[in-house]
Amino acid sequence: MKGSEKTFDEVHSSHKLQMEILGDNWRPKYHRIYGAPPILKYEAFSSWCARVSATCNISIGHLLSALGINMQSFWVDAGRIPLDLKKIASLVMCDISTLTHLNWQFDSVLADFDFSCITVEILNQKPIYKYCPACLASDPIPYFRQSWRLASTYICPLHRMILRDSCHQCKQRIDLSLSGPKSGGSNSFRCLSFCNQCEASLAESPYNTIGRRFLSDVFFRQEQIENLIRSTSSYWMPSQFAIHHESLSNQHPSKLVWSVVNAQVILKGLTERYGNIHKRPEIRIENRSILKSLMHFKEYDFSPYTDYSNGIYIALDGPTIFKCISPVIGLQISEYQSPNGSTIWWEKTVGNLENAFKTEPDALNTAISWLTPPPQH
Ligand SMILES: [Zn+2]
Ligand SMILES: [Zn+2]
Repeated sequence: MKGSEKTFDEVHSSHKLQMEILGDNWRPKYHRIYGAPPILKYEAFSSWCARVSATCNISIGHLLSALGINMQSFWVDAGRIPLDLKKIASLVMCDISTLTHLNWQFDSVLADFDFSCITVEILNQKPIYKYCPACLASDPIPYFRQSWRLASTYICPLHRMILRDSCHQCKQRIDLSLSGPKSGGSNSFRCLSFCNQCEASLAESPYNTIGRRFLSDVFFRQEQIENLIRSTSSYWMPSQFAIHHESLSNQHPSKLVWSVVNAQVILKGLTERYGNIHKRPEIRIENRSILKSLMHFKEYDFSPYTDYSNGIYIALDGPTIFKCISPVIGLQISEYQSPNGSTIWWEKTVGNLENAFKTEPDALNTAISWLTPPPQH
């Protein structure tokens, strides 16, 4: 199915004649990839890369090298490099101001070695990609949200569904950095609603909803953590649900859950404080240390720390985040989450369950070398 892959130059040269007819002076400063779809608000960068790959029939590798990026797209989601927004704007022929949301994580905790476990599963050596089947089914253009790349996002507050991290059919983990050109033709704009390994429809995945009485708790916690993360960046960009009230409160009365709407109001108050321009420097430091207190720490003696600690965070710590309801929600959510995943749900006192997270020094060594950023050219 991946036979007719075109290189960037091939795609580009097919438009060369047209450029010559029109004269050279309108030639854009950067190469364009014609027909590249616009980036959607709150879309993960790697989600857009996968869509460009499918729509324009080029590999993600070619797209990234056209943009001067020499790492996998899921690392870019975590802000390991600042994106050249001018280049991207020229490439998709859009206004640069519509793209500023893409760089919110550049100097946030996500880009820190110590906090890697927020966007990748260290022990599984996999990027975190979660999805809500109902969102993918109802999106006019299915896309993966920035929040679906975070360990702390567990549910979709619109559909109350517990997010999944793998394909229900082939059981493979979702990883959009592995997507390639598709022969889907006119349907390629819906490419992200299908598994990129077995092509099963992710929009039709079996699903479960979170218990109604826990909904607002989980919603509030996950939004709070996402905003804590976002607030550690110099570019303040609140989470989608922290500012777009209407998306939740305008739902049909039968779907409206008042406790969630209330949680959203409280959240709005909180995040407004984060945006206070005079307090930004202290908020960045303060929220970074709040986040540290929510992580599961692993003592380890290894050098590339940015955080002056003696270890690495290997996951979020469920019992610290959710307190007494952690065992109940942990049971519901972990059903849709890979073992050794991005949240540790169980207290040490609960049977032997924490053994699932026992790690051998070798495994940790390998994982840490996987995490170490590639050299920049
Ligand atoms: Zn949804
Ligand atoms: Zn599959």
